[in-house]
Amino acid sequence: MTENTELPVVSHWIGGAEVSSSGGRRAPVFNPATGARTKDLVLADAGEIDAAVASASEAFPGWRDLSMAKRQGIIFRFRELLNARKFELAEIITSEHGKVVSDAAGEVQRGLEVVDLACGFPHLIKGGFSENVSTGVDVYSIKQPLGVVGIISPFNFPAMVPLWFFPVAIAAGNTVVLKPSEKDPSAAVWMARLWKEAGLPDGVFNVLQGDKQAVDGLLEAAEVRSISFVGSTPIAQYIYETAAKHGKRVQALGGANNHMMVLPDADLDLVADNAINSGFGSAGERCMAQSVVIAVEPVADLLIEKIRERMVNLKVGDGRENPDMGPLVTAAHRDRVAGYIDVAEQDGADILVDGRGFTVDGAEEGFWLGPTLIDNIPLTSRAYAEEIFGPVLSIVRVESFQEGMDLINSGQFGNGTAIFTNDGGAARRFQNEVEVGMIGINVPIPVPVAYHSFGGWKQSLFGSAKAYGVHGFDFFTQEKAITSRWLDPATHGGINLGFPEND
Ligand code: NAD
Repeated sequence: MTENTELPVVSHWIGGAEVSSSGGRRAPVFNPATGARTKDLVLADAGEIDAAVASASEAFPGWRDLSMAKRQGIIFRFRELLNARKFELAEIITSEHGKVVSDAAGEVQRGLEVVDLACGFPHLIKGGFSENVSTGVDVYSIKQPLGVVGIISPFNFPAMVPLWFFPVAIAAGNTVVLKPSEKDPSAAVWMARLWKEAGLPDGVFNVLQGDKQAVDGLLEAAEVRSISFVGSTPIAQYIYETAAKHGKRVQALGGANNHMMVLPDADLDLVADNAINSGFGSAGERCMAQSVVIAVEPVADLLIEKIRERMVNLKVGDGRENPDMGPLVTAAHRDRVAGYIDVAEQDGADILVDGRGFTVDGAEEGFWLGPTLIDNIPLTSRAYAEEIFGPVLSIVRVESFQEGMDLINSGQFGNGTAIFTNDGGAARRFQNEVEVGMIGINVPIPVPVAYHSFGGWKQSLFGSAKAYGVHGFDFFTQEKAITSRWLDPATHGGINLGFPEND
């Protein structure tokens, strides 16, 4: 890619300052609502990868040893600054991602919840103490930070997903190298600047801009002790395997294809509202979007009618003007999503509402795709089985609760699901038997609050540790168990080569 020198450059953040390579590789950043290339992004080379990791390594001992009270004070200040300036960050997100600005503000708010959690970190890394496990012997465990931790994030939540990890990692005493998505890289640098304002020592939080080369650099760097990844399933699997091969702790959250089951007793107006909100919010570019509605008959026809009525009024446009839905993130992604609609059509599905070819007057170059509704999609179609990640809602008709449950459990992903019903017994059976990590009962986007943990099952999460909550603090700390005896003449045991027993 040749450099366009007139455009602003999005840089790395290393050692407490912006670092922009002089002649290295660059990638374009777009405004999805206009299709215009608005910025150039630096892509890390080997030297910049080394510099980011070295900066985090050098900052680690000082940050680890800073008193908890001082660390807590800095995190509180970051929390206050982020809360005061969240709309500034939301506008940056909208300008590069395309989501409507109120949705971008919502993403920041959900990220803030994790900062709130991190403010209370001393309670969560306390360890334990057992007195007198043997005569005069005590055992205690302490939780220590890992060192330098790597975070690799996707395009769809450029603030919230990094915020799932770095407040917890930093609170626990680690130093961070964050590699954001190339598609919307500015939010990460904005948050780095905020950390500096909050008083975080230089080098504790670094942003490394880049592509596969930057990711592989983090996976291979000996000083990087853990990798937290969020993105598509094939890359998550690659990250999981490669990080493990290099001896790192790893959590890799992958893709999704969430199903929402509607029982005949459900309130269909509530269901239709929620199907629209969940399926088309953020143009369907959410890993917790419900992309398939399983209608347990006889509700399908009536439900479709209600969904269609609502779709007529959806406003699609530039996210800065706060319509209902914005554009997709890139032209390539828009074309990929449209390709799935082609596949569904070729496989015999009925395209009830077709978003292909949609444009916005005066902004024809934007990455538009209108909300799309598909009925009778064959279960053998790739457009049913794979993750589409766009504003496409498919309806599948089944005859029974069990048939719907079997369908959900036979999928490759297990991120989120929802059931809509007024039958408590059915809902309870659903939560018990469904093989999915996050479940909504009359709630369409069941993203857990910060003090529970976020993560799916099956191909939606590689590794056992979920994001934030207690899982987050466990992931970003390692435990030491200390067995201690302070001798006095009366308890001196003399020589004994046998395995120690407690008495
Ligand atoms: P992606 O997998 O393309 O990219 C994610 C990150 O991986 C980016 O930082 C990117 O630079 C890097 N990357 C891309 N290709 C790579 C390669 N070949 N080698 C090494 N690194 C590479 O994902 P995306 O398109 O940015 O985001 C959308 C995906 O993320 C969807 O699949 C969505 O379901 C998933 N997602 C999952 C969750 C979850 O919690 N499970 C949350 C958000 C998004």
